[in-house]
Amino acid sequence: MPHAVDCAIVGGGVIGLTTAWFLAEAGQRVLVCEQGEIGREASWAGAGIVPPGNFARATTPYDRLRAYGVERFAEVSAQLREQTGIDNGYRRCGGIEFLPAEAAEELTQPWCQEAIAFERLTTAELQQRFPTIHPPDAAAYWLPDLAQVRNPWHLRALRTRCEQIGVTFRPHDAVVGFERTATRVTALRLANEQRIVAERFLIASGAWTDGLLAEFGIQLGVRPVLGQIVLVRLPQPPCRPILLAGKCYVVPRDDGRTLIGSTEEPEAGFTKRTTAEARRQLLQFGTRLLPQLAEGEVETTWAGLRPGSPDGMPFLGPLPGYGNAWVAAGHFRAGIQLSIGTATLLTDLLLDRPALIDSQAFRLDRCPQTDFRPAFRS
Ligand SMILES: Cc1cc2nc3c(=O)[nH]c(=O)nc-3n(C[C@H](O)[C@H](O)[C@H](O)COP(=O)(O)OP(=O)(O)OC[C@H]3O[C@@H](n4cnc5c(N)ncnc54)[C@H](O)[C@@H]3O)c2cc1C
Repeated sequence: MPHAVDCAIVGGGVIGLTTAWFLAEAGQRVLVCEQGEIGREASWAGAGIVPPGNFARATTPYDRLRAYGVERFAEVSAQLREQTGIDNGYRRCGGIEFLPAEAAEELTQPWCQEAIAFERLTTAELQQRFPTIHPPDAAAYWLPDLAQVRNPWHLRALRTRCEQIGVTFRPHDAVVGFERTATRVTALRLANEQRIVAERFLIASGAWTDGLLAEFGIQLGVRPVLGQIVLVRLPQPPCRPILLAGKCYVVPRDDGRTLIGSTEEPEAGFTKRTTAEARRQLLQFGTRLLPQLAEGEVETTWAGLRPGSPDGMPFLGPLPGYGNAWVAAGHFRAGIQLSIGTATLLTDLLLDRPALIDSQAFRLDRCPQTDFRPAFRS
């Protein structure tokens, strides 16, 4: 017997789970198909950096998508904790962004536009306020509203909430294709030869999305970009704020565990491997900024596959030619920070409600933006 649901979602990462939650809260019968364990791919591997945002003042579509969600992250986290008893580790820990002095003005300009709180620190101020940090040769900016979340905890809370309100999970059930008419998708085809019949479909399959879209003749250019992280354990956090410099960062957790990330390896394909060289480079980066990290023990290293896109922006919108199927993929380095905005937008689109966030800039048939620059990286 095929399963009949209102919405079938392919992919149990942060994008699929958050959207499943919002759709189920809106009264939909939702089913999530996941080829592996629920929430064990990129969304699990990420560092959980959540930058600040101001929706009312953000100007670009991408910054509005981020700002809409990050403004709600504290409230959503509190709601999840109340409903599930699971603390997702959301903390407004603040952060220090180290920017090359010559580029600092251009890079901080979008923060001014959004009226994000930030303060330029002199080396003396940095040393006085954060004595464990060894100042690099760069301009230091204190961002008091930067936050973090603990990804595995957040995913567990999302899954638990989804289960509480009736979302069906099909872990270890890979989707291998679709049944369709000329204008509508009618069912998911699973590897075990079963099928899932639904009214509406959402493809939120992260780095694997292009493989699934091939049968529609669509190639978005979403591809895996490997990121490695080293976890160092200390008895106490080496500092409170997150430290960001270029593409790397240090994220201290409350219990002394400290993440040093991350590499960006587009050529690694779908192989989630860690390497001695990346571990050495990340440790070197981390201990330069926080010499105390050298006293810690490397607890583990891991890797995840970010869903990269040609211009760094996600694809959010209808599958061209099909009135009841949508895609949400390609969130690259920012899927956690964009998850609430994305799920809000996709819930509006799937339920045919006026969308709070404009989706045009994210449509599947756009030309890649050549000058895309987000106000924050993670
Ligand atoms: C090292 C690293 C650090 C990061 N740090 C941050 C950060 O600090 N802040 C931030 O905002 N973002 C960060 N990111 C990015 C963020 O983690 C991703 O953008 C986000 O997790 C993407 O979510 P997703 O749900 O699209 O993908 P995923 O979590 O990969 O989920 C997609 C799911 O779809 C499933 N799937 C695929 N194909 C099929 C199929 N055929 N059938 C069934 N299921 C299928 C996969 O198994 C997977 O579970 C980081 C990523 C990495 C790797």
